Amino acid sequence: MFRKILIANRGEIACRIIKTARHLGVATVAVYSDADRDAMHVAAADEAVHIGGSAPKDSYLNVQTIIDAALKTGAEAIHPGYGFLSENPDFVDALTAAGLIFIGPSASAIRAMGLKDAAKALMEQAGVPVVPGYHGERQDADFLHMRAESIGYPVLIKAVAGGGGKGMRRVDAPSTFMEGLRAAKAEAANAFGNDAVLIEKYVASPRHIEVQVFGDGTDAVHLFERDCSLQRRHQKVIEEAPAPGMTAEMREAMGSAAVRAAKTIGYSGAGTVEFIVDGSEGLRPDRFWFMEMNTRLQVEHPVTEAITGLDLVEWQLRVASGEPLPLKQEQIELRGHAFEARLYAEDVPAGFLPATGTLAHLQFPSNCRADTGVSTGDMISPWYDPMIAKIITHGPTRDIALAKLTRALEETEVAGTVTNLTFLTALSRHSGFRAGEVDTGLIPRDLASLLADSSHNGLEHAMIARAALHAARLPKDPLAGFSLWQPLRQTVMLEKDGDVVTVAFAFRGANQCRIDISEHSYTATQTGGCWRIEGQPEMRVVEANGIHVFAAGRSITLRLHDLLQRETAGGQGSDVTLAPMPGLVRAMLVQAGQDVELGEPLCILEAMKMEHTLRASRDGRVAEVFAHEGAQISAGDPLVRLEAGNVAHG
Ligand code: ADP
Ligand code: ADP
Ligand code: MG
Repeated sequence: MFRKILIANRGEIACRIIKTARHLGVATVAVYSDADRDAMHVAAADEAVHIGGSAPKDSYLNVQTIIDAALKTGAEAIHPGYGFLSENPDFVDALTAAGLIFIGPSASAIRAMGLKDAAKALMEQAGVPVVPGYHGERQDADFLHMRAESIGYPVLIKAVAGGGGKGMRRVDAPSTFMEGLRAAKAEAANAFGNDAVLIEKYVASPRHIEVQVFGDGTDAVHLFERDCSLQRRHQKVIEEAPAPGMTAEMREAMGSAAVRAAKTIGYSGAGTVEFIVDGSEGLRPDRFWFMEMNTRLQVEHPVTEAITGLDLVEWQLRVASGEPLPLKQEQIELRGHAFEARLYAEDVPAGFLPATGTLAHLQFPSNCRADTGVSTGDMISPWYDPMIAKIITHGPTRDIALAKLTRALEETEVAGTVTNLTFLTALSRHSGFRAGEVDTGLIPRDLASLLADSSHNGLEHAMIARAALHAARLPKDPLAGFSLWQPLRQTVMLEKDGDVVTVAFAFRGANQCRIDISEHSYTATQTGGCWRIEGQPEMRVVEANGIHVFAAGRSITLRLHDLLQRETAGGQGSDVTLAPMPGLVRAMLVQAGQDVELGEPLCILEAMKMEHTLRASRDGRVAEVFAHEGAQISAGDPLVRLEAGNVAHG
């Protein structure tokens, strides 16, 4: 086994690898960019080396800097994680030349599977079924159009260098083929610097089922399958293992095809062979086709770990350090069922748009495995993948594992950025999904109802009521000093998404009150020190840069109305107005030398997709303006300074 390894990655996967290394007594070296100075993976490793700027090309993709870091720290091997350099054969060659070991397959195995067209041709030769279509050299539009015709519509145009669902277009009729081809090629050229495409039959009722394989260069085994059919924009959202409806016959057929694929290229380490399956008539051994092989550890590997009880990163380290495969095929057992949900900072109703923000609060329940690389206070920056965490559950049956997933999602608390948590919770309750009727069209088909389920108005008002109760900062005995003949009345003004919400309380004794929010009215009762709204389970309230309420996979953030006024004024009477949050300067409304009055707008900041007006904290003359329109600023950055002392008003 290695003494020390370097992890050429960041975020949750770097933390995940460090955990296993520690477990095996292997020392770890983290690398980090400017943006990741204070990241969790840096703190988790034994040593850390700064490798450059925040943009991936200046740090996590910089081959020479990473190799130098490994040599300098005496690391013997490099684990690439996923993404970044994990499937880059030139990186493997450079490591080898520097006398380092790559924890992964050989450069030649990566090259063999690197381009989808060449990989398909190779798999065809090896007797692995491939999706019917054209994956030859010719790229002229008329020829491809003709091939699409003979394949039969609908077809899928795919970038041969593709990944992450990019450079892919489904075409349903000949009339839109040219348009689809142009779009796929443009996206491919932009994302991969290679505009070559292949054309595939678009499989009916498609299910994405992939097989986890492991090789040691001579032998190979599979660790069963994962179903990753719940996708948005051709990207995975919830994965599970085993696949619903899997039969022994189908598993044998897919497993042996995947092992054949791995053996054909002398595969070493962890890999995934992805198949597209026509699920229109259940799972049938003649209805699955090879799509591509990912020559790395996959994001969703924890579901396989959960059902096999194995640690895939441990296997990677053992195999890379020269050990043979730890188990034979017949020794690998499948137990129960597992799910993984990917928690992202993204705006689902806006079309799954990636979001950024500082995590004001992040907490996972104890009844799940949560793999993450961030914690409260960390920023989801625009530089990297906006994944916050993976939530994994396991149970003896699919029903139990899924019920545990719903529960874990409901109990996850995340605030400070828009997330897909509510959507994931709704998805985990989807009746078709619960019944195991999955296909890649499920999310797009039922998006409207999944979103409707997310915007549960009644619950949201109850959550506002809970926040207001917190904000009211009730004395131990709210009736102290008041006439017992009249209910105690109190009003709290909160701000939510820029709107002011007025909440009125009427107490009827110390432990009960009526709460009115616009036309909604709730009864809250206090028992054992916690307030319940309408007898519902207790909601968690956290105060951290706002009041956050969490319930059933939802969260809302409110601020005390006057608190916000003070905060955005940058402190009462102070000279310098500071940015209360990271964001973009939408407009700078003043210039040096200008006189302003208390409360006058100074600057408009856009943060977390909301506009905030920063106002003068007193009368005065602008001495300095620090930021211009369009500038990206961090929390606490100075924006405007007023001249010291008061300026007489004339
Ligand atoms: P899978 O192939 O398992 O579906 P994805 O393709 O969704 O996995 O995820 C791999 C992608 O994740 C990479 O191609 C990259 O865009 C992104 N990525 C790379 N490194 C990281 C990281 N450290 N944390 C999160 N995402 C990353
Ligand atoms: P990427 O490299 O972006 O992961 P893949 O070839 O693995 O590209 O395809 C991504 C997704 O697109 C699959 O998981 C599946 O949902 C869909 N897909 C790919 N090929 C087909 C096909 N022939 N028919 C139907 N859906 C497909
Ligand atoms: Mg894929």
